[in-house]
Amino acid sequence: MTALSLKSYRRITVKIGSALLVDRESGLKRGWLDSLADDVADLAKGGAEILVVSSGAIALGRTILSLGKRVLKLEESQAAAAVGQIALASAWSESLGRHGLRSGQILLTLGDTEERRRYLNARATISKLLEFKAIPVINENDTVATTEIRYGDNDRLAARVATMMGGDLLVLLSDIDGLYTAPPARDPNAKFIPVVDRITPEIEAMAGAAASELSRGGMRTKLDAGKIATLAGTAMIITSGTRQNPLKAIDHGERATFFRQSANPVKGYKTWIAGQLEPAGRLTIDTGAVGALMSGKSLLPAGVKLVSGAFSRGDTVAILDPDGREIARGLVAYDASDAVRIAGLKTAEIAERLGYEARSAMVHRDDLVISMARAAAV
Ligand code: GLU
Repeated sequence: MTALSLKSYRRITVKIGSALLVDRESGLKRGWLDSLADDVADLAKGGAEILVVSSGAIALGRTILSLGKRVLKLEESQAAAAVGQIALASAWSESLGRHGLRSGQILLTLGDTEERRRYLNARATISKLLEFKAIPVINENDTVATTEIRYGDNDRLAARVATMMGGDLLVLLSDIDGLYTAPPARDPNAKFIPVVDRITPEIEAMAGAAASELSRGGMRTKLDAGKIATLAGTAMIITSGTRQNPLKAIDHGERATFFRQSANPVKGYKTWIAGQLEPAGRLTIDTGAVGALMSGKSLLPAGVKLVSGAFSRGDTVAILDPDGREIARGLVAYDASDAVRIAGLKTAEIAERLGYEARSAMVHRDDLVISMARAAAV
């Protein structure tokens, strides 16, 4: 493949992992941040719009408050985030300011991207910032996020932001320089993969099992981010940020894995559905319904074999094939209790069972997105 270059991209989201920005002992790595800000300024001068998703609030707050290495209680990490975030934002503002660049802080809570109304609101604010030529510096609002209500990792948050803003590239900077056939720390024979055309189940298996699932921002969350991004038409790069000027380094041929965007990306409203982070339930469907969905039809109750989860009408559900693989996502037209009652029924039988005239589709085609990897497999 030809060398990667960031120059051809117009709207780039750059996600920075905590370990790159913060040293446990000495705090913020100012020299490194300045070198990254130099790269951002170069790209901005070339006409690209840059969005920064910066981790590091909790890590920095922990250092400033001298909390050591111990596991923090929820309120402690929320308080650490409050202290760390103010320092983080001011560091970004100063570093970018050296180039005459303005910046604006955006702190997101899960609902800001997962609820449609709030998603549109967040998008409008960030659009305005870009219009004002101020660089959005985004993080999760860790000061109020709880274990249940949080993104938890900035990889998926960054993918959600990149696609919400219709970006053409997402760059994940961390201490991993790309995707390998197996986690290189555990398997010395692991081979580096320069390009991923589609995130298939085989690619997902390379991320390794449970161990990385626990750590925030392991390869698992990076591939989740990749699925969200590429399906919406945003390409993704994973590369190491441990050296200075990590963005310029990509153009100079530094090792990086490139994830190609889908040739037929979902658009607008469907981007929001496709990227939903936590479906509220699952519908397992039969082979006939799989065929119907693949040819662009709605999901009818007759094709639904199993309903699980406590969802309400309008929530996002994952749609699984008979082998349990997710093939689509969509907004469900029934509450879980009604969905259970009408699963498997023909359209004519639904009103009789429910006692009221209802929609015939369980998930209407307008509210449905086929997940790319499976679509080609069927
Ligand atoms: N939002 C967290 C922080 O700023 C980081 C999340 C992550 O590491 O992905 O501390």
